[in-house]
Amino acid sequence: MSLGHDDWLRLAARMSSPRGLFVGGTFIDPADGTPMPVTSPRDGRVLAEVAAAGEKDVDRAVAAARRAFDEGPWPRLKPRERAKHLLRLAELVDRDADVLALSVSLEMGKPISDARNVELAALVNTLRWYAEAADKNAGEIPDAGPDALALVTREPAGVVAAVVPWNFPLTMAGWKLGPALAAGCTVVLKPAEQSPLSALHLARLAAEAGLPEGVLNVVNGPGEVTGRALGLHPGVDVVTFTGSTEVGRHFLRYAADSNLKRVWLELGGKSPNIILDDAPELGAAADTSAWGIFFNSGEMCTAPSRLVVHKSVADEVLERVVARAADFAPGDPLDPVTKMGPVVSEEHLGSVLSHVDVALEEGARVCIGGERVRVDSVAGGGSYLEPTVLDRVTPGMRVAREEIFGPVLSVLTFDTVEEAVALAADTEYGLAAAVWTRDLGRAHRISRALRAGTVWVNCYEEGDLSVPFGGTKLSGHGRDKSLHALEKFTDLKTTWIALP
Ligand code: NAD
Repeated sequence: MSLGHDDWLRLAARMSSPRGLFVGGTFIDPADGTPMPVTSPRDGRVLAEVAAAGEKDVDRAVAAARRAFDEGPWPRLKPRERAKHLLRLAELVDRDADVLALSVSLEMGKPISDARNVELAALVNTLRWYAEAADKNAGEIPDAGPDALALVTREPAGVVAAVVPWNFPLTMAGWKLGPALAAGCTVVLKPAEQSPLSALHLARLAAEAGLPEGVLNVVNGPGEVTGRALGLHPGVDVVTFTGSTEVGRHFLRYAADSNLKRVWLELGGKSPNIILDDAPELGAAADTSAWGIFFNSGEMCTAPSRLVVHKSVADEVLERVVARAADFAPGDPLDPVTKMGPVVSEEHLGSVLSHVDVALEEGARVCIGGERVRVDSVAGGGSYLEPTVLDRVTPGMRVAREEIFGPVLSVLTFDTVEEAVALAADTEYGLAAAVWTRDLGRAHRISRALRAGTVWVNCYEEGDLSVPFGGTKLSGHGRDKSLHALEKFTDLKTTWIALP
């Protein structure tokens, strides 16, 4: 039975989470970190204080992961045995999905229905998918001639630091943990400052699932301290990072300044959504534009934040987008009918609003939204923003170039297909793009012309675990999801055997 608003409020009042650092299979107190308050953007309330890891604590976590990798059973288990552990963890996540969804909703403001049905479903599916993938990681025997045999095997790459953001805290953790653990690596997970509680609950479940000690460690803490210490640590072999381009650059520097660890980056985006005048269903294209930018309060790396629309249909599309925006009026994230909650924090709200102010100074126009709002059913002040649509945006404006990561849509118009492609391609990012047209040849040509990890045709946000996901240019490199993700966490070893 699905829970109602009152049920979630009651559960929230009783919620308790572990607070420590999860190292070597158990929760420990920090040696040198300063405790960190967790503030809910729902109502500005401090939910808890969690332990933060300083450098000494990061040392302890990496040492535990190192021991588990160098001496423990995990990398040496049959892949099917690792799969059993991952399946058990998936089962426990499924069992505790309500509590985990509640943690996510309270800590970063995601509507509870999305937390429960999207975020938690994604984590369970990811763990199950990679459990099944664990023994599909085959090597090769190239034809090296008659006198020797060359075996190319894939070996687990070692200790992985998984540093993740707050916007999909458990989905992102799952996209890292699933393939890394399936491949036989051990992991230190570093959640974002804004979303430590759900990760601590996941750690508790890892212990209950019987993962050998040190295989998964979870350390919360500020990026500049805990994240940095992981990035610079000589005991870490691989960093898998999802977050901003700016912090992605830091990780490349940390690697260069330490042990040249491998760094995989899934970064930001400024994705164009091109609607041509022959779009098959203009209504669907417009509805998808609205959903894409307002879902998760626009805090989605692939959000179609630039609507690039043909002038002849722009008014009709815009009218429909504005009408759809009403469905996303901000509401209490704990109410199951809410489609858009707050943005993640007061600080982030300030940053989004300042982007809107600059856009207005630069000549854009607000079609709808642009103001912070109060949600009457929530006591206290939360960080809520109206769904916002800006038109008269031109390519040089900041709102057309920078990732805002909020519910703010920038509308740009064009006359010719060439102009549309030029507008869409005019970005330093390369995560995703979409094109709406009836003409398949045109769709192919536009797709080829755009440098992006994913191009959707007549849809947006289609995805499947079997399909790789990631970016190019300032959106990073490497792929999450699919069997390709296993490549990030394995090394190729060649063994030559002489055939006398
Ligand atoms: P962020 O870069 O600020 O933080 C991400 C992680 O890095 C957090 O755990 C943080 O603590 C840590 N960090 C911050 N500063 C650090 C430093 N100096 N050294 C080491 N670690 C540090 O990103 P965010 O605000 O949490 O998330 C939003 C960003 O994530 C957006 O840019 C979004 O596009 C991106 N994102 C990308 C994808 C993708 O798959 N491409 C998916 C989700 C989010």
